[in-house]
Amino acid sequence: MSRSVIRIKDVKKIYQMGSEQIQAVSGISLNIRQGEVCCLLGKSGSGKSTLLNLIAGLEKPSSGAIIFNKKHIERMNEDQLADFRQKYVGFVFQSYNLLPTLTAMENVTLPLIFKNVPLQERNERAMEMLKAVGLEDRAHHKPHEMSGGQQQRVSIARAFINSPQVVFADEPTGNLDTRTTYEMMDLITALAKKNNQTLVIVTHDLELSDYADRIVMLSDGKVERIEDKTQGEGEKE
Ligand code: ADP
Ligand code: MG
Repeated sequence: MSRSVIRIKDVKKIYQMGSEQIQAVSGISLNIRQGEVCCLLGKSGSGKSTLLNLIAGLEKPSSGAIIFNKKHIERMNEDQLADFRQKYVGFVFQSYNLLPTLTAMENVTLPLIFKNVPLQERNERAMEMLKAVGLEDRAHHKPHEMSGGQQQRVSIARAFINSPQVVFADEPTGNLDTRTTYEMMDLITALAKKNNQTLVIVTHDLELSDYADRIVMLSDGKVERIEDKTQGEGEKE
């Protein structure tokens, strides 16, 4: 039985656009379990990224509660949120979000710099992570000297270097070809499973949900259906 790491309770997000209100997330309740690969699946505009940003503490909900390790993140101020993200979460984005002037290794060490880890330990741990993603021979390359797949490997190494409890990935393979997509999904799910880390992946690609333990289907800002592939293995909420 896995416990919930994140409890989402009737969360709404309304954007005000001039005189128009857009309900990006319209009352979602969902528990995310420790160690699961949870896929948020839905068409473009269904509210996947908004939901991900809310549960990762990047945006505030308009109403509802998001409880991460028993703490209400919707009640945190900016400093508390920054601290929370640093301690517990890693991110992988579609566009990699690497700093262009830094090498692969320097990009991977960034989360450790914010945690005041000494230089030598930072470099050793970054090198270990780069090995884990198969990029030790690209440690001193800058992002523009690498392929898209290699850049995404660097960003995966950066997401995992702090051993975060949860890694959030928003369309992590959206810019990659099919073969690289599967390599990247194999890598990110293997890294997460190895240490019982939770992985929340946003995608519009049904095929990627093969990697999920649970698939949460979103439509118009609501949960349409949840497919639990662990059911029948004695798993319970
Ligand atoms: P998805 O990731 O599933 O494609 P999003 O969560 O990005 O969907 O968007 C859901 C809805 O909210 C869309 O209609 C989108 O236009 C709207 N939306 C998202 N972000 C903003 C924003 N910052 N301001 C206004 N509307 C937004
Ligand atoms: Mg999106």
